[in-house]
Amino acid sequence: MDGYTVPNFLAQRAFLTPERQALVSEGTSLTFKEMHSLVLKRAAQLSKAGVKESDKTGVLMSNSLDMAVTIHALFYIGSTAVLLNNRLTSEEIAWQSNHSQTVIIITDEQCKSKAPVNICETVSIADLPKAESGLKSFLAEFPLEKPATVMYTSGTTGHPKGVIQSFGNHYWSAAASALNLGLHHQDRWLLALPMFHISGLSILLRSVIYGICAVIAPSADARLLNSLIHQQKITIMSAVSTLLTEMVQSMDGKYPDFFRCMLLGGGPAPLSLLQKCAERGIPIYQTYGMTETSSQIATLPPEDCFTKLGSAGKPLFPCSISIQNDKQNCQPNEAGEILVKGANVAKAYLYEEAELTDSGGWFRTGDIGYQDEEGYLFLLDRRSDLIISGGENVYPAEIEGVLLSHPDIFDAGVVGMPHAKWGEVPCAFITSRKHLGEQDVMKYCQEKLAKYKVPHSVRFLEKLPRNAARKLLRRKLKDILQGESGNV
Ligand code: ATP
Ligand code: MG
Repeated sequence: MDGYTVPNFLAQRAFLTPERQALVSEGTSLTFKEMHSLVLKRAAQLSKAGVKESDKTGVLMSNSLDMAVTIHALFYIGSTAVLLNNRLTSEEIAWQSNHSQTVIIITDEQCKSKAPVNICETVSIADLPKAESGLKSFLAEFPLEKPATVMYTSGTTGHPKGVIQSFGNHYWSAAASALNLGLHHQDRWLLALPMFHISGLSILLRSVIYGICAVIAPSADARLLNSLIHQQKITIMSAVSTLLTEMVQSMDGKYPDFFRCMLLGGGPAPLSLLQKCAERGIPIYQTYGMTETSSQIATLPPEDCFTKLGSAGKPLFPCSISIQNDKQNCQPNEAGEILVKGANVAKAYLYEEAELTDSGGWFRTGDIGYQDEEGYLFLLDRRSDLIISGGENVYPAEIEGVLLSHPDIFDAGVVGMPHAKWGEVPCAFITSRKHLGEQDVMKYCQEKLAKYKVPHSVRFLEKLPRNAARKLLRRKLKDILQGESGNV
């Protein structure tokens, strides 16, 4: 796709459907035309502050109209936006700013205390130079190969990797999703996930590419989100399972009929949650994707929602999935590493020479799964977390799903621990609502799992280690076990 361009997303949308509602945020509502002129002004301010097309500019902000406008303004200038996760520690943010060679960080009141010192310049939105008029000449066409954003992976398995997402990656991701979910011009997408993750940013970009309204939630409070769905006539929402669990728990009655899609991804979805949603008539579209695929790569189509419970569906129309073991394609129902392919897959990690994809265009995800006879994808776990017990593959996510279905277990994590006879056996870490004994937990698992999957040991913690994306850090649970064996 070298040499091809797409029109500047927002400028084109403001030209095509200027009067449509673009964004709602805390009492403010903007049309695409209004947003375009705000962005031109912000781009002029950023430019006065020293932001250049050739540089990388950090965005350390919390979800807001200001953040949305700033991201588009960087696109107008052509400066690559490095989206910094505001839930990280100052040290982690400093590491990412340094690694990405960010020149200026744009921040806001809420996040400025976390901005790194002595690494690069930091400017708060409120302190940007004033601009009377909009940027004179802006990037009217986006080269498909041009880096639009740099986004670090969640760091679940190790150090976060800086993924370079091009305008083409974002465009293809939006197009692929629309071919799957369908598109109605009255769609309204609730933006409750952070825009520094692809799950949140993709909603901002889809809003302008599709010409639909994005409603930015002021917080991720479950009750508030449930009421916004009614008040704001939301038709689509993206969620991760921890958030959806809270929403289901605090839900009275049902969602309105106009609510047509709850896109659920980012991590494993416990079957008990999917079942609860099915009982309450919440249309769940389970989806699989990662930072490297610039959002979804597979999604369960609506008609299969309830018949293929637990599956992440089939690849989106322009994407492909293959399951391999030792470079050989797996048979249906045979587990192996998931490989993905598509124009939404990023080309490279920042400052790493190797391309992410092989000569055939495939990216090895490091996730394990299988496809059934009909090609539906079922995620099992990450390759690095697989437990091999007496020659049997044990997937921690399956055991965690069972533990989470226990009414008194609040959170659960499973890792392998060394065992003289079996090599490794599962060990469970849980937080419980009320006192539970190890035997109670094991007995519950024995009723639901094959013997070799039943945890040999259960540890009770006050809180499980989760990262800024609320993903379980199993490597920290392994550290606890290692610490114990070191102390023996
Ligand atoms: P890192 O790559 O730094 O270890 P990460 O992989 O958690 O972090 P993300 O890109 O945010 O960073 O997450 C993508 C991963 O999330 C996928 O590779 C997969 O392991 C997991 N995931 C996404 N969707 C699902 C799903 N539907 N079911 C199970 N796991 C999922
Ligand atoms: Mg990853």
